[in-house]
Amino acid sequence: MCGIVGIIGVDGASKKVATALQAIQHRGQDSAGIGAKKGNHFRYFKDIGLVHRIFNENELERLEGRCAVGHVRYPTIGGNSKEDAQPFYSRWPGIIMAHNGNITNFEEIKEYLLSQSIFLSSKCDIEPVLYILSNAIIKDNVKRVYSFEDVVKGLKETFKIVKGAYSLVGIISIEGKDTLFVARDPYGIRPAVWGKKESSYLVCSESVCMDVLDYEYVGSVKSGHVMFFREGEEPIEYEIEKKGTTPCIFEYIYFARPDSRINDHCVYEKRMELGRLLADEFKERKKGIDFDIVMPIPDTSRPSAITFSEEMKKPIREGFIKNRYSGRTFIMPTQGDRSTALRLKLNPIKAEIEGKSIMLIDDSIVRGNTVKRIVEVLRGKGAKEIHLAIYSPPVVNPCFYGIDMSTHDELIAYKVLKELGYEFENSVKIDKDLLTKLEEKLAEKFGLSSLTYLSIERLNNLLENNRCAACFDGNYPVEVDEKSRRCIVFDRLSSRD
Ligand code: SF4
Repeated sequence: MCGIVGIIGVDGASKKVATALQAIQHRGQDSAGIGAKKGNHFRYFKDIGLVHRIFNENELERLEGRCAVGHVRYPTIGGNSKEDAQPFYSRWPGIIMAHNGNITNFEEIKEYLLSQSIFLSSKCDIEPVLYILSNAIIKDNVKRVYSFEDVVKGLKETFKIVKGAYSLVGIISIEGKDTLFVARDPYGIRPAVWGKKESSYLVCSESVCMDVLDYEYVGSVKSGHVMFFREGEEPIEYEIEKKGTTPCIFEYIYFARPDSRINDHCVYEKRMELGRLLADEFKERKKGIDFDIVMPIPDTSRPSAITFSEEMKKPIREGFIKNRYSGRTFIMPTQGDRSTALRLKLNPIKAEIEGKSIMLIDDSIVRGNTVKRIVEVLRGKGAKEIHLAIYSPPVVNPCFYGIDMSTHDELIAYKVLKELGYEFENSVKIDKDLLTKLEEKLAEKFGLSSLTYLSIERLNNLLENNRCAACFDGNYPVEVDEKSRRCIVFDRLSSRD
């Protein structure tokens, strides 16, 4: 998961991009970059770290111009070096570009480029995409001024070669005018929205960027489409290649900020709906289980916990206070360090815990480490019973579209199904019988009094089947062949070493 921003038609565009990037810093904290265009000059700067640490006033002054793009990175291909940070720049025909997503046939593209004696300078998947796009625009057509048709033709060729999930943002000169563009892959898996303010336009991953800069949200970029924006002119839109509309459902469950709009939905409302669906699930399948209070695991699950408590007619209580300044905790080397880090991040309130039967609400269980530690903390503070309800189905399949969970073996639900003796060919599908068995086994493993997941059937009510939910149901909208899967897994495992 990464975040993208692009702005055109305002002085100090790079400063505005830096502000917008801070609003979506949750989408990537490993590196950040900004590129701007003024006259015939492109300038960019990128580095490892958080946006406010990388960009100071002087650096942003240097990135002058009335159009700029920016990126925050969370690597799902490549490592975490400065070279892998985005945006990337191509001299011919002059494009600066960044993306959010994952190119699933990255290895195949690299091999193809190598066969043409074309070498890359990074392990980041946007670099070859930019090369392919630039080459497709100038191929047989080297000229000083390019038209919309030239760029659309280049994008069509690029979309034919590049597979996966991607939202692209870039700056290019078309008909001699600075032009901001945003394009979404043929299935629209990763989000991209746009807004305006007077004669200026803003494109970004989530609408919170518009809120902080006081732009008006206009809409979501359609899957398989490109939109071009110029200062003071109406946007121009072309269909490049559309195959469906299957946005990532995990954005609503966990990734996106609750105060954002993506795909023309309010994330907060969707999270509230998930809490109601979870209550329906609980009432249907967990008759006889009682509890005193509902307790969200901060912060993502709070909207769902509110509606769950309303539907269950049980009070909601805060049992953990989140320390906003604790930083990242999952890179701690030892179990002891990680336990200390969790205590630093989430401090329990004993008065709300001691002697109570608690229903915890959380968004998902991926590797299971947080659940284990939360149960330890609650037991230590004298909880009578600890129940857990998750407002998503079990994560049993890897994601190849830009979320860092690319191997079956890192998923606790998958590992437990294997322990129970189940064998799967490629992707895992879970019916209600299997769901109950998995819940029981995981509850035992975590030391919980009960565990309840949302079933895939109920999750389907959230986006009326127009969604990617492959990590839950194994239905991948973009086919990822065996060789590409192996390459993605190898890349992730070697990056984590
Ligand atoms: S596999 Fe899961 S995380 Fe990945 S894009 Fe699909 S829904 Fe989102």
